[in-house]
Amino acid sequence: MGVRPATEGTETDTNRTMGRAKIRRQLRAAALPGAVMAAVAVGVAMAAAAKPSVTLRGSPASMEHQYEVARSEDFTFAATPAAVADLVAKERLVRIEGGADYTLHQVSYPFARPEVRTLVEELSAKYRAACGEPLVVTSLTRPKSEQPGNAHELSVHPAGMAVDFRISKSPKCVKWFEKTLLAMEGRELLDATRERNPPHFHVAVFPGVYAAYAATRKTSSPPPASPTAIQPERWPRQQPAEAAAPAGARSQASEPVEAPEQAGVVLAAGIIGVLALFVLWLIRRIRRMV
Ligand SMILES: [Zn+2]
Repeated sequence: MGVRPATEGTETDTNRTMGRAKIRRQLRAAALPGAVMAAVAVGVAMAAAAKPSVTLRGSPASMEHQYEVARSEDFTFAATPAAVADLVAKERLVRIEGGADYTLHQVSYPFARPEVRTLVEELSAKYRAACGEPLVVTSLTRPKSEQPGNAHELSVHPAGMAVDFRISKSPKCVKWFEKTLLAMEGRELLDATRERNPPHFHVAVFPGVYAAYAATRKTSSPPPASPTAIQPERWPRQQPAEAAAPAGARSQASEPVEAPEQAGVVLAAGIIGVLALFVLWLIRRIRRMV
């Protein structure tokens, strides 16, 4: 009789000990994958949130938007070479003949809207400073009668508000150019697409917004870009005079694309780092318990 309670007590303690050990094992088994999954989920969510809405992938919506801008500006879509000549005579289109930082390659009609010329001049100067090579323009205004067979029916080349650029052989220059175009697209100054057939960058300049933007840039004097290093495009941050821009331009110009992107990446890295520290702490604690 005297032995029985002791035996029962021993069995109960053993059961409790086994139960706790089982819980610890389960906790240990679940803690690491759980924390890793949480970290990955947070990282993916942050990366998705940080992804800019603007892209260089073309889309029907993108073409429609370009076309609507041309229509809202009441631009004439030149049907024939004679119509292009007429627009030049009326000074709706200006001649673009190459400059210090850009060249033209087999451009049949070296004419475009004045804002396109301003963009080409400004962009090529920055491109040259960053990459050390000139930009190459491969197309400007094209009358409808001379559009290539695969041209989109809503193409704004006949309206003179588009320009095509050759894709550089230098990956660094391509990266700089893409980032710059995306930053400007984020401000709704233009719509850029990286075309595949034939390979080139197609850029539709939005004249109203771009003209206001260019005007504010003339009143400011940004520091010259380094000719030796390829820097990310900083145009959106070099606008101390932006407050003087017309209300319409301000409302259409969104915040720089790069800022939220960088902030998102930093935040995601921070969260993942904190979670990793938590996992390490949890593992140590579990080891001490067991
Ligand atoms: Zn084009």
